[in-house]
Amino acid sequence: MTSDDCDVLVIGAGIHGAGVAQAAAARGYRVMVLEQTAPASGTSSRSSKLIHGGLRYLESAQFGLVRECLHERRVLLRIAPELVRLRPFHIPVYHNTRRRSWQIGLGLSLYAALDGFTTDSRFSRIARHDWAQLDGLDTTGLQDVFRYYDAQTDDAALTRAVLHSAQVLGALLRMPARVTRVERHAQGARVYYQCGDEERECNTRVLVNAAGPWVNEVLQKMVPTPVGMPVELVQGTHIVLPGSLTQGMYYLEAPTDARAVFAMPWQDAVLVGTTETPYHGAPEAVAPLSTELDYLLATCAHYFPAYRGLTREDIRSSYAGLRVLPMRPGAAFGRPRETLFHTDDPQRPTLLTIYGGKLTAYRATAQKVMQRLASSLPEPHLRVDTATLHLDV
Ligand SMILES: Cc1cc2nc3c(=O)[nH]c(=O)nc-3n(C[C@H](O)[C@H](O)[C@H](O)COP(=O)(O)OP(=O)(O)OC[C@H]3O[C@@H](n4cnc5c(N)ncnc54)[C@H](O)[C@@H]3O)c2cc1C
Repeated sequence: MTSDDCDVLVIGAGIHGAGVAQAAAARGYRVMVLEQTAPASGTSSRSSKLIHGGLRYLESAQFGLVRECLHERRVLLRIAPELVRLRPFHIPVYHNTRRRSWQIGLGLSLYAALDGFTTDSRFSRIARHDWAQLDGLDTTGLQDVFRYYDAQTDDAALTRAVLHSAQVLGALLRMPARVTRVERHAQGARVYYQCGDEERECNTRVLVNAAGPWVNEVLQKMVPTPVGMPVELVQGTHIVLPGSLTQGMYYLEAPTDARAVFAMPWQDAVLVGTTETPYHGAPEAVAPLSTELDYLLATCAHYFPAYRGLTREDIRSSYAGLRVLPMRPGAAFGRPRETLFHTDDPQRPTLLTIYGGKLTAYRATAQKVMQRLASSLPEPHLRVDTATLHLDV
């Protein structure tokens, strides 16, 4: 049995684990990340790959989240230009779509205001004579098309880049390393993990549970066992279709339930997503359902006549990821998407659990995690500001 000691031990190398490791290492702490499979092997490679404020969150009045995400979008466009790129988004308004032109215009104005009216938040209406250039978008009943800007990334590559940055700053990554048991005590925790055939252990002052959809499963491995937050796992599926979208992204309203569905250019093909289906199985077993594939095919075909007649056999690939949402009544679509923290002790926490959150806001989330843990850690020695640290591909 071997032993390592650290100040901050992070469970999970998704975007949140990577972000916290980077923020902690940037403050001069001894950091270790334990990842059971591979970086971004969970939700952080199965997202819609958008670095965005989240226009649709304005409908549920999540203004703080949108403002923070727009700020982080600006930061990421600056520090990771090879990984995060601004793209034109198009919102078509038809005679029968639920959201009307005035609502879209109002939403985009608010979006621009929350972004401080920067040039990236400009938007316009596309002239009718230019509609023919919109990748074969159906113009029957079309009344308006708005164009605005948001950003796209490769989520797995972004996660790896943040993790690499953490490692350059001194964080250690153990992988595959599955946390099997945690003994919590007043000064921190002793963490046991499986590294191949070997069982290892490590002492830490503070523990960050960034296990994504496994988050409550990880809490069950701890003694004494903390009471976690009740959550619901909601799966979101994407499909990759042949073809190309030369003008950018399309923000569509699913004809059956008016949910937002994106059609996006992705690696010489078209990525369409996502769905919202309650999930009750083991996180590692999540997979697209045939009903979800049909829903996405139908939504795409509804707006792009060239896709009519496509069947499941035409889908190049598909994937499903899990959202971690607070347990509440009602549809998942309107549920808050803010990152939630849960600590064992509000004054001197030694365990912090991250629930939910956005890929876009990972850096801001990591800053908040470090602020919440500050009272349990030695004085930091700030080595670098992650808001200006370039992320290498
Ligand atoms: C369908 C969908 C679309 C989304 N689209 C967007 C988007 O476009 N833009 C956006 O900003 N956000 C988006 N999100 C949100 C974003 O993707 C997630 O909030 C984020 O990826 C979660 O990252 P995480 O690090 O918390 O979890 P994960 O990426 O799941 O990482 C958790 C890690 O913990 C590891 N782990 C678990 N148990 C153990 C253990 N016992 N020992 C060691 N390691 C362990 C896992 O292997 C995994 O790698 C989307 C989410 C979903 C589900």
